[in-house]
Amino acid sequence: MSELLEKDAKYVWHPFTQMKTEGSPIPMIKGEGTLLFDETGKSYIDCNSSWWVNTHGHGHPHIKNALLEQFDKLDHTLLAGVTHPKAAELSERIVKLLGGDFQKVFFSDNGSTSTEVALKMSFQYWYNLEQPKHKVLAIEGAYHGDTFGAMSVGERDYFNKPFEPFFFDVDFLEFPTEEKEAEQLKKAENLFKTDEFACMILEPLVQGSSGMRMYSISFLDKLVALAKKYNVLVIFDEVMTGWGRTGKMFAKDFLENQPDIICLSKGLTAGALAMGLTVTSQDIFDVFYADDRAKALLHGHSYTGNPLSCAVACANLDLFENPEVAETIISLEKAHISFKNKLEKHPKVKEIRTQGTIMALEIETGEGNTYFSKLRNKAYQYFIDNGMLLRPLGNVVFLNPPYCITEEELNYCYTVITRFLDEEI
Ligand SMILES: *Cc1c(COP(=O)(O)O)cnc(C)c1O
Repeated sequence: MSELLEKDAKYVWHPFTQMKTEGSPIPMIKGEGTLLFDETGKSYIDCNSSWWVNTHGHGHPHIKNALLEQFDKLDHTLLAGVTHPKAAELSERIVKLLGGDFQKVFFSDNGSTSTEVALKMSFQYWYNLEQPKHKVLAIEGAYHGDTFGAMSVGERDYFNKPFEPFFFDVDFLEFPTEEKEAEQLKKAENLFKTDEFACMILEPLVQGSSGMRMYSISFLDKLVALAKKYNVLVIFDEVMTGWGRTGKMFAKDFLENQPDIICLSKGLTAGALAMGLTVTSQDIFDVFYADDRAKALLHGHSYTGNPLSCAVACANLDLFENPEVAETIISLEKAHISFKNKLEKHPKVKEIRTQGTIMALEIETGEGNTYFSKLRNKAYQYFIDNGMLLRPLGNVVFLNPPYCITEEELNYCYTVITRFLDEEI
């Protein structure tokens, strides 16, 4: 065992990991473009963008320069009673990018805090209006993060069983497969009619952690319209779907009816630093704007609006302005679709689906799709052996690589996935 692995085994407690049964971690020491390198020099294609955060590849020079330049000016300052150029620049650029009624940007530290803030914003909105509402609508299978509010509105399963007694009251729609759409819209309307719902929170178009499950634009548009009709605030958790993943910059860009609050993180900082944003309209902001301090949103984190993160996020936006990135997103989408057409009839494929730059392939196991599926560990190891860092979600193997992935690397991924289906199961 290398020195690094020994030290790790002695001191590090890894996330989402049963430390007793899972093998040694990969000792990664370098990243460059789409590739990660371990200490033996072996390379891995970063198939899931390092937990869906990396947008333009590892070690991008523009991101690096932005980080170093900012460090020379100002590494950190609190954001209460203070501002700095990159917080203001980023907020302006985000508001312009989102368009519509979006006007105010609230900073926090990650995806979970961005949804937590959105929930607090919604509850306090009604509280400040002196019409307190305590219910939330969410969708089964959702993942909004690992803090208590975020867990409350997420799927209630073995991931958060020990904490269930502490969750607040949430109603869930069933996952809206095509045949369930009408029934779930009806259910939502009946719930909204009670006038008890503060907000609805969902991952638009693609539920990430539950296995890249996709649902229709028209369903979502109708659901948002219903929420608006009954005055329920709509929160889009675009922590995963943002930044071009669904084929447009944001999943909301596919819709006519727009959310009131949007949560951003993951790809926001190109995969280099942690930051979350909760963005909303002037109308919602105005409900907190008062002479009474108790009406303010009294929430914050030590690193709120960290200048280094803000500078990196601005540099990430610069890169998105390069027309080549939009072209790569389109070609990635096309490549996924043709892979889908090729594999759709494969006997080992239960379903293959794509949305923008995401391709998800559900393997036929005959045992339902559980996270603990034996197949999951076998697939994970097979891809590792073949130089691909790809963490399947149960029996769902998926690709959402950094946008700098080359045609050759992408075709290699498709080939290895096909070979796994043909030879290993
Ligand atoms: C990852 C994720 C989160 C949580 O983000 P963290 O940065 O891991 O806290 C929330 N919502 C969605 C949709 C996500 O994919």
